[in-house]
Amino acid sequence: MTDLQAFREETRAWLAENCPSGARGPGEIHSGSTRQTFDADTQLWMERMAEKGWTVPSWPREYGGGGLTDDETRVLYQEMEAIGARPPLVNMGTRMLGPTLLEYGTEAQKKKHLTLIAQGGAAWCQGYSEPGAGSDLAGLRTRAEDKGDYFLINGQKIWTSGAHLADWMFCLVRTDPDVPKHQGISFLLVPMDQPGVTVRPIELISGRSHFCETFLDNAVADKADLVGNLNEGWTVGKRLLQHERSGQGGLGPSTGPRLPVGVTIDLDMEKVAVEYLGTSEGRIADAALRDEVLRWNMNKAAFGLTQRRAGEQARDGKTPGEVTSVFKLFGSTLARERQELIVRLMGSQGTGWDGAGFNETEIAAARSWLSSRAVTIYGGTNEIQADIIAKRVLGLPD
Ligand SMILES: Cc1cc2nc3c(=O)[nH]c(=O)nc-3n(C[C@H](O)[C@H](O)[C@H](O)COP(=O)(O)OP(=O)(O)OC[C@H]3O[C@@H](n4cnc5c(N)ncnc54)[C@H](O)[C@@H]3O)c2cc1C
Repeated sequence: MTDLQAFREETRAWLAENCPSGARGPGEIHSGSTRQTFDADTQLWMERMAEKGWTVPSWPREYGGGGLTDDETRVLYQEMEAIGARPPLVNMGTRMLGPTLLEYGTEAQKKKHLTLIAQGGAAWCQGYSEPGAGSDLAGLRTRAEDKGDYFLINGQKIWTSGAHLADWMFCLVRTDPDVPKHQGISFLLVPMDQPGVTVRPIELISGRSHFCETFLDNAVADKADLVGNLNEGWTVGKRLLQHERSGQGGLGPSTGPRLPVGVTIDLDMEKVAVEYLGTSEGRIADAALRDEVLRWNMNKAAFGLTQRRAGEQARDGKTPGEVTSVFKLFGSTLARERQELIVRLMGSQGTGWDGAGFNETEIAAARSWLSSRAVTIYGGTNEIQADIIAKRVLGLPD
């Protein structure tokens, strides 16, 4: 038996014994927020996995990770998938800030923040966008002034997902207004629980409200929480976006096609088609929609193979660079098309908001369709991804 096979056997046995039944199948996922309570099994599952370092299995052990190799991480995820175990802890700390700190953080920052993230002890939010700076992110105006041993921050962030539940915010701030815009930006870690930070939730078209306006009025950040060099935050901030887009585009150690987050219901499209359109000679009855389902499935399969190829090529476990935009662009488009197609397959039954005329699945499908409009916007819009691919991946002229 190879070492990897032995690891698989041990992992399988450990998961069977330690993954509570309430942490299997669809359900709540721990976000690490200290402002939220979680059901008992979700909490227990996160704690058990954190103890093994498996909330962030590939991070080094000294920062709370599991120290697993890429192959071991892949095996762990395969075995979790086999029993329907949910990820024990998902937040912007595990997916975005953590990998960035591993590359750019000081030893003290890694010890302080990574360990807390790995143990589910802190939830993070992302303070990038501002009312006048979304696609043109480098146009951001939130000012941070150097006050000796701390920064004084004034400005406004917007679309800050999860800010109302976050303990910390990583953000881009302007520290030098007198140089070209990309050169006067710094990357700061800001505690949310302070008088200078006010959070106001924004309601979405889907009826949910997971993001906020965040006001910074004389907020403070410790000097020790500057990541990278002063005025060189653009490089750090861009790298974090690559980690974000890599997650949204389904790149990572787990094999097989994965869709980006943003859908609230996971329906089998072919089953929906058969239920709502019926069959003719064993096939989906409506020929035009049958073609669309087929084309979507082929795209999904091709995308899955490309994801796997990219994953295998990145053998050092590092998130790829600008090429992550290819996965973000195609993956989020695929996710949005899927929700649209499901609603069309359901016909008028797919447009229900509430009421007795619609069942739970139909209402969830309609809401999921509305939520899915956002996946081609957050993390950078499709147009911006196409721009990055053109310039930075294909090398086309500006
Ligand atoms: C659900 C959701 C969650 C989000 N969460 C966060 C978060 O946690 N933190 C955070 O900081 N931000 C967050 N965002 C903000 C997101 O990053 C921005 O919405 C996005 O970058 C677009 O910026 P904007 O909304 O200002 O649109 P704009 O930049 O004003 O763009 C408007 C339109 O113009 C197009 N456009 C703009 N510039 C160009 C160009 N040069 N070439 C071609 N087309 C162009 C865009 O593609 C878009 O279609 C979130 C957004 C959503 C929808």
